[in-house]
Amino acid sequence: MAEENKKIAEDLSGTGNFIHAYIQEDLGENLSHVHTRFPPEPNGYLHIGHAKSICLNFGLAKLYGGKCNLRFDDTNPTKEDTEYVESIEEDVRWLGFDWEDRLFFASSYFDTFYEVALKLIKEGKAYVCDLSAEEMRQYRGTLSSPGKNSPYRDRSVEENLDLFTRMKNGEFPDGSHTLRAKIDMASPNINMRDPVLYRIAHAHHHKTGDAWCIYPMYDFAHPLEDVIENITHSICTMEFEDHRPLYDWVVDNSGLPAKPRQIEFARLGMTNTVMSKRKLRALVEDGLVDGWDDPRMPTISGLRRRGVTPEAIRDFCEKIGVSKANSRVDSSLLDHCIRDDLKTKTPVAMAVLRPLKVTITNYPEGQIEFLPVENNPENEALGIREVPFGRELYIEQEDFMEVPEKKFFRLAPGKEVRLKGAYYITCTGVVKDGDGKITEVLCTYDPETKSGSGFEGRKVKGTLHWVCADTAIDAEVRLYDAMMLDNDEDPSGDMIMNPNSLEVLSSKVEPSIKDAKGGDRFQFMRNGYFCVDTKTSTPQKLVFNRIVALKSAYKPGK
Ligand code: ATP
Ligand code: MG
Repeated sequence: MAEENKKIAEDLSGTGNFIHAYIQEDLGENLSHVHTRFPPEPNGYLHIGHAKSICLNFGLAKLYGGKCNLRFDDTNPTKEDTEYVESIEEDVRWLGFDWEDRLFFASSYFDTFYEVALKLIKEGKAYVCDLSAEEMRQYRGTLSSPGKNSPYRDRSVEENLDLFTRMKNGEFPDGSHTLRAKIDMASPNINMRDPVLYRIAHAHHHKTGDAWCIYPMYDFAHPLEDVIENITHSICTMEFEDHRPLYDWVVDNSGLPAKPRQIEFARLGMTNTVMSKRKLRALVEDGLVDGWDDPRMPTISGLRRRGVTPEAIRDFCEKIGVSKANSRVDSSLLDHCIRDDLKTKTPVAMAVLRPLKVTITNYPEGQIEFLPVENNPENEALGIREVPFGRELYIEQEDFMEVPEKKFFRLAPGKEVRLKGAYYITCTGVVKDGDGKITEVLCTYDPETKSGSGFEGRKVKGTLHWVCADTAIDAEVRLYDAMMLDNDEDPSGDMIMNPNSLEVLSSKVEPSIKDAKGGDRFQFMRNGYFCVDTKTSTPQKLVFNRIVALKSAYKPGK
């Protein structure tokens, strides 16, 4: 196995990002395998930033023939919930990754954490401290000045063992005592100034119930979780870089044999959205969005409900790459990946989002004919379907102008256009209501110009999509725009919600898709990619979410 991996490392050397270089170095020296983990805290739903971490951790394991665990980092009982555990499992699986039998909970290691704490106390490396949070801050010092030793730092091992046991037994109120590592109050790295290892919290835990009233701090628990699971590479985001000496201190003093290596990378940020669970939860709790799976949200469940595929998300994570420099990715790159994935696999249909009625005055009343239309011009394998055509149709309101602007090549009085897959029509007049608003456009059609008939007469510039009025299906169509408005003046400051992030339309769609089910995807000609909403669509009233429009600012390779 070791030889085999060394060979994989050699074959891959020079490829990939800096993490590969580290792993290749380790495999070349003292490691025989790669074992990573994805360690979410179950305090919210996963977002696309987590997808980056999932693709990275599971991807590295796969590439090097190793393993990746799914581990819930559930050491903070007040914010955690089984609802989140379930959603996270669903999302990771949906993204296409398999943890096999390696589903772990940090809470199942509470006994081991406690044992390690006792060992540190016995070795004089940890002590019980009675300073309040505020006092502790005062003793900690600053970036430019050293801290001061706690007056409780020199308690005897016996006293520490007694107090720590009583902390565990629930004899003290929250906040009255902590267990701290005895490292160095003068360390230039503030994380090493006797960090807290355990706090008292009389809180109910989603897995361990009321068994514990002391809970380990992240910086103590996380390295131990990695050690217990024999993780070789503990990949985390940049904000933990300064915590690495503490991570190594805990690993080295745990008395356990594994020596995981912490590697930091830059977290994903994106324009026009927020990426922290805290901010996403606030949007949900304030009722500004329709839950964690609102299609505007950057959550995996929101993207899934909008109709985005796991393939598109994985492609996006591949394209953004991995580095140590924090940056914000333009959200139009994700749009590009989504279109790229859907382009050939999604059937095309005609839907008129904002309908305007057209009557073809020279087409026989009551007649309906069926015209063959390709299901996807970019993929012949999807075949053709028959679309009904009749005297009354709908076109998009924006495809007609009574007084056309310059370069408006669509329908206008006296102008001729092609109806996709059907005939040429010429506008002969309009019907208006009492307020002068156009309610109907009158046209004539030329039977000679039937699509596919080989007609080669005059050319027209505009081709419109349309839906036959008699057979059309009513549908609700939801158009989404950026969820947040970026604050260019202060990119790190709070963003505000885009008041126009959702537009709900009463639309008309062609009858061939009347039996569409939640999750079915279509490309609506000229309008973008759409997905039947899994939460609100019914056979009586179809509801479509726009996944992405056909165009956005991002040009690949730019
Ligand atoms: P948030 O700030 O959104 O709550 P978090 O880091 O607290 O994120 P965790 O549940 O602790 O969320 O994250 C699980 C894993 O996902 C961690 O290893 C973390 O580094 C990674 N992760 C979280 N957010 C991002 C992101 N935006 N980009 C890349 N990785 C991320
Ligand atoms: Mg966290």
